[in-house]
Amino acid sequence: MFDINNNPCPIAKSIEFFWENIRQLSGESFFSKSTEIVSLTTKANYVWIGDVSKNKDKITTLSFFQNGVKGSNFEYLIKNSLCCIILEKKDILLVDSSNKNQYFVDSNKENEILNETTEEYMDRFNNYINDFNENSKVNLFFENWTIENYIGVPLFNSKKEVIGVIVVIFSENTEHIAKFKLFMEIISSFCSQELESIEQKRECKYQEQRFYDLFNSTQISIWELDASNIKNDIKDMNLNDFKKSGDFNLEQLDLSSFNIDLVFNIIKKVKITAINNYTLSMFKFESKKEFTTDILSLLSDDFIKKIVLSFNLLKSKTFSHYFESSFKNSLNETLNVSIKWEIPIYSIDSWERIIVVVQDITDKKCYELKAIQSEKMEAVGMLAGGVAHDFNNQLTPIVTFAEILKEELNEQYQIKYIDNILSAATRASDLVDQLLMFSRKGESIFVSLNIDDVIQESIELLERSIDKKITLKHEKNVLMAPIMGDSTMLQNMILNLVINARDAMPNGGEILINTGTITIDTLSLLFNIKDNIQSGDYLKLSITDNGVGIDKTLLNNIFSPFFTTKEPGKGTGLGLSAVYGTVKKHGGFINVESELGVGTTFYIFIPINKVASSKSLEQVSSPKKFPKQNYTVLLVDDEELVYKSTAEILKRVGYSVMICTNGEDAVEYFERYEASIDIIILDIIMPIMSGKEVFSVIRQKNQQIPVIFSSGYPIDSEELLNFGEKVSFIQKPFKISELADKISEFLD
Ligand code: ADP
Ligand code: MG
Repeated sequence: MFDINNNPCPIAKSIEFFWENIRQLSGESFFSKSTEIVSLTTKANYVWIGDVSKNKDKITTLSFFQNGVKGSNFEYLIKNSLCCIILEKKDILLVDSSNKNQYFVDSNKENEILNETTEEYMDRFNNYINDFNENSKVNLFFENWTIENYIGVPLFNSKKEVIGVIVVIFSENTEHIAKFKLFMEIISSFCSQELESIEQKRECKYQEQRFYDLFNSTQISIWELDASNIKNDIKDMNLNDFKKSGDFNLEQLDLSSFNIDLVFNIIKKVKITAINNYTLSMFKFESKKEFTTDILSLLSDDFIKKIVLSFNLLKSKTFSHYFESSFKNSLNETLNVSIKWEIPIYSIDSWERIIVVVQDITDKKCYELKAIQSEKMEAVGMLAGGVAHDFNNQLTPIVTFAEILKEELNEQYQIKYIDNILSAATRASDLVDQLLMFSRKGESIFVSLNIDDVIQESIELLERSIDKKITLKHEKNVLMAPIMGDSTMLQNMILNLVINARDAMPNGGEILINTGTITIDTLSLLFNIKDNIQSGDYLKLSITDNGVGIDKTLLNNIFSPFFTTKEPGKGTGLGLSAVYGTVKKHGGFINVESELGVGTTFYIFIPINKVASSKSLEQVSSPKKFPKQNYTVLLVDDEELVYKSTAEILKRVGYSVMICTNGEDAVEYFERYEASIDIIILDIIMPIMSGKEVFSVIRQKNQQIPVIFSSGYPIDSEELLNFGEKVSFIQKPFKISELADKISEFLD
């Protein structure tokens, strides 16, 4: 074995020996061999190479030799060890007890650095030793060690930071250790390099892990592709080559004439080099291998078309492209996806790396569809509003002429026919009201009403749309107090609830509608806290079915707009949210109880208004007859059938009727014959000059003349009040008695 002491040129020889032995090695074996050689060369009792931790608080040995024999690695705190000095001074520490003056022998600048005397230093050193023995984690390990001579060498990285140490300890004071200085310096430079490269690898691994974690923690699918293989295939290709013949127009591409095989053969060569974990869950695959082999079979035709476009873009050196398409997952379910591919700048020529980001936009698509659907509904609503108006105009003459005819006829069976016409017209007019309600053209009109009447009307409307297998029961409450409500809204609410109940009973069953009153006192409110609920008397309406019931987890959602469990085209999910809106508008609240397989009950509570209760009694008054005098009526309407039938009624009563078919004529006529006119019936919607404009001209001249507005649209009661005194409104189509009522308001 090599012996430094018996060698003519010991340092040079030992370095040569070292170099011979370690140059092929790296990592653990490198450090093991290095430690061994230091141990043999110095004949020290303990030798180790240690790695300084990132936050510089401890040292972990990479290799440890005790009396020439490899020992197991250990860890110790820097704070309590001699290494503390090495890290602090970034220099070799040499302690030679045979020569008390030799500390920091390396640089001979000990006094400059330390600015302390040898004695002072010695004290400090002894303190370290004591601390080391008392406090060090490895105290036990060192317990029996006698440290006579000590060499500590720092290992540096290229930034001159201490990243490791070599420690050599002699238990006996045998010789001057200064002679190992150069040897240790050279060895340490090799070890520094190796340690730094290890640290760099470790850092690389750490960064790699960081990016890997980021890559896998996202909820979008990311793919990395290597498309270098297809570059040549595509380079010489024209887009038209993808089509069997003729010119290429991607948008109108007919897939049957499309050379799918060619595209497939090209795509097949693209290597998927990485995918993140989310990709597997998004496409429902177990492993990356499965994914890469099966993904080709899951491409949609549309996707293939768009890939061809992407090929062409790549060729023209486009860096990124976004498109939306569809994909299948492994369960053959269609996913709507957005795809964004991007080619890093350094890869633009080689196509070696293409990053593809795939997002599942199925939900987004679904919401878009629903938004379109509700826009459509809005449009239908507007259309319905328009149609309703014209429809009411057409109904007016039907009702009027039928009523006139009824008066002329004597035969009972003939009168019955007319009654049929009249009741059909009334139903048609009710339908129009529904349309108006739907289009929200009609303002809500709160009147005192009896809920059981509303329910009865709803049931009549429902009769045709409810299967015979379902029985619909209505338990009336005789003592039911009236509520203030909008009958159309309430009717709609009942329709919605009953139709939902019907839908919940595909095999038939029973729907029970029950009404009653309940007093909600402060106490019961305390136990069932509901926002904005006043104590007092409430109408309690319940609608019970014995259908499928509603899952507990869904109960919170059913009132949300667009929430539906029905298949597309069947449900809109708007029914219950409208019900909720109606109940709120009436100052009430709604509750639902449901059990799967047993059935569902919706409870609706609406406050009973004391004022409404008394008012409703006053309101009962019998229809009036036309006042019998020779009045002159100015009738303004642009619809021929409407003014003709209205004029007919009025003439039959003995009135003189002057007809104007537009606003200007009406104003002109009024100016000329003002004195002879007793009352004006004024259509609101007319071209050029509207009824309201005519009204304001006439009112300026004459405050007293009564005006009855007429329209196919209902009018807001507040708006009517704004017109001032001597104004009233009649909605088309009107019955003769209604017209008589309105006229006698002013002319009796
Ligand atoms: P839609 O009827 O268009 O689905 P709704 O807002 O009226 O919309 O109802 C929302 C959902 O609430 C329904 O799809 C259904 O799942 C549930 N639902 C409502 N009423 C009942 C009921 N009586 N029984 C069972 N489920 C019901
Ligand atoms: Mg519904």
